[in-house]
Amino acid sequence: MSFVAVIVAAGSSLRAGAGLPKPWRQVGGKIVTRWSVEAMIEAGAAQVIVVAAEDHQETARKALGDLPNWSVIVGGASRAESVSLGLAALSADPETPVLVHDAARPFLTSDHVHRLLAALEDHDGAILALPVTDTLKRGDDQIVDNVDRQGLWRAQTPQAFRLGALSQAYKAWTSQTEPTDDAQVAGAQGASIALVPGDPRLMKLTYPEDFTMAEALAGTRWRTRTGMGVDAHRWGPGDGVWLCGILIPFDQTLVGHSDADAGLHALTDAILGAIGDGDIGEHFPPSDPQWKGVSSDRFLRYAGERVRLRGGRIVNVDVTLICEQPRIRPHRDAMRQRLAELLDLPLDGVSVKATTTEGMGYTGRQEGLLAQAIATVELPA
Ligand code: MG
Repeated sequence: MSFVAVIVAAGSSLRAGAGLPKPWRQVGGKIVTRWSVEAMIEAGAAQVIVVAAEDHQETARKALGDLPNWSVIVGGASRAESVSLGLAALSADPETPVLVHDAARPFLTSDHVHRLLAALEDHDGAILALPVTDTLKRGDDQIVDNVDRQGLWRAQTPQAFRLGALSQAYKAWTSQTEPTDDAQVAGAQGASIALVPGDPRLMKLTYPEDFTMAEALAGTRWRTRTGMGVDAHRWGPGDGVWLCGILIPFDQTLVGHSDADAGLHALTDAILGAIGDGDIGEHFPPSDPQWKGVSSDRFLRYAGERVRLRGGRIVNVDVTLICEQPRIRPHRDAMRQRLAELLDLPLDGVSVKATTTEGMGYTGRQEGLLAQAIATVELPA
C-alpha cells in the first residue's frame, strides 16, 4: 500500500541536556532523525516530510541529503502546528495513508509501518502502543491512590490515518489544550483508532540518560580516544582571575585575548585533540576581533558540541592548574561543577587539580600560570 509520512523533528529538546537538539544528535553513529527517514523510505514511503526548526533546515539537508523522496520544512511553535504544516506540505490523494512519527523515536522498522498500514484497512486510524505493565500510583511525593492499569496503554509513534481526514481533524481542533499526539486530534472527530502492539525499542529519547540506553539498543561499538591540551598565560595587573569557568578574587589577572582562562583553553584543546579536530586557535583565531574579551565558556561548549556532532561522548576530563597563587583548593568544587555543566557530564567525570613548581620556573617566579588537561572521548567505531 502506498503511503506518505511526516516526521516531526522540530522540538527544542529542553529535557535532553545541553547542546544540539536530540533529533540532530547521533545514535549508533547515525543522526537520530535519519534512522526514521531511512526506515520510512525502506518501508515504501512515497513522500516523507521532515519538519525541523528554522535553525536546523541546513542540518537536515546535510544529514539526509543523499536519501530519496524526502524534503524538509520549517516547523511551528507546537507539535500540533508542526504536524499541520507537515500534512499541508504533502502532495497526495486524501485517501492516502499518512504516518506521523516523532524523530525522537529512532528505532523504527518496516515491520512497524506495515502493521499500522494493515490495521488501517478496517479502522480510521492506528497507533503503536504498549500495554502498561508497571503498577501505577497517583500522588505527588506520596501515594494518594492506586490506579488500575487494566486497559491502559502507552502511546507510541508512528500513528497512521488517512491524509484528508487527519488534515481536517487538525483544522477542527479548537481546544486550548495542546494535543500530545495525533490520535487525540483524530479521536476528537470520532475516528475509530486501532491499538497495534508497539515495541519497547521505539523508546522516545527524552532525557540525557536515554541516549545511553539508545546506544546500547543500537549496538554501538566505541573506540576510545585521548587528547591533551596545554595553555599558559602571563600575570598582569587586575583584581580577579577566571580559571575553569570560575572568577577567583585575586590581586592580579591573567592577560590574554579572551578572558585568558588557561584551564578552559587547555581543556578545549584536549577535547579537540581527542577527536583530531585541530586546536582552539584554529577554531577561534586570536586575530579575529570577535573573540576579544569573550568568556571562554563558549570555547569549551563548542568542543563538547564537536564531539556530539561526531556521534561521540566525553568519558572524563582532568585539568591540572600549575601556579604558586591563588589557592585553587577552595574553588575546586565550583570549578568541577562548572565544567560538568559546560560539558553536560556527571560530576565524577570531571577532575580539577592544582600544584606548584616549588618556586622553580616561570610559574614558580609567578610570571604566569600553566594549565594542562587530558580528555577521554568515545567515538562510534
Ligand atoms: Mg589561552
